Amino acid sequence: MNWRTYFYNGTKIHEYENHGKFSISKCYKALREPIAQVRLKRLLCNNKASPKSLFITWLDVLNKLATKTRLAQWNLISDTTCVLCNDAEEDIQHLFFNCPFLSDIWMQCLNLLGISRRPMAFLDEISIAASKCRRKSNRNQLYGMLFAEAIYNIWLQRNHQVFEGNHKLPDQTVDLILFNVACRIPDSMKKQLCR
Ligand SMILES: [Zn+2]
Repeated sequence: MNWRTYFYNGTKIHEYENHGKFSISKCYKALREPIAQVRLKRLLCNNKASPKSLFITWLDVLNKLATKTRLAQWNLISDTTCVLCNDAEEDIQHLFFNCPFLSDIWMQCLNLLGISRRPMAFLDEISIAASKCRRKSNRNQLYGMLFAEAIYNIWLQRNHQVFEGNHKLPDQTVDLILFNVACRIPDSMKKQLCR
């Protein structure tokens, strides 16, 4: 089966051509970007988390954060080991939320919302958060805010460890996340953040 056959069934093949030849990169972008944009739009629009946390979440979802794995791809470093657990490659999937030193942060946030589960793979977490952010209830609004603040504060802790050689304990980071969220919601919603 050639690519013309593969994309038959109503797909506009010429959209994936470059000077008359099939372009894998054009096809990949066409397939990937609408999904990422929809998820990003759901995650970020109407999310009342702090602008800096929304910015880092935006970079994170697009895999634009300067993780060690990405720096190594640019030949800027050679050691890609996670500085927190020293037991895995540092990429976004590991930091959010597989690293044993960081997974507890998101799990505690979930527990606060009455959700008892361990963090899943990052793409699954993005899908869940984007789906929650579509709905307008207080709980779903809190979910989106906690998700963005968790990503921002995890990235901060990673940077503290890389550049200063220390980081906060998960409990302290969760306190910080809750404080940042509490500052941006009405009093009536704050009781849902009590530990
Ligand atoms: Zn780690």
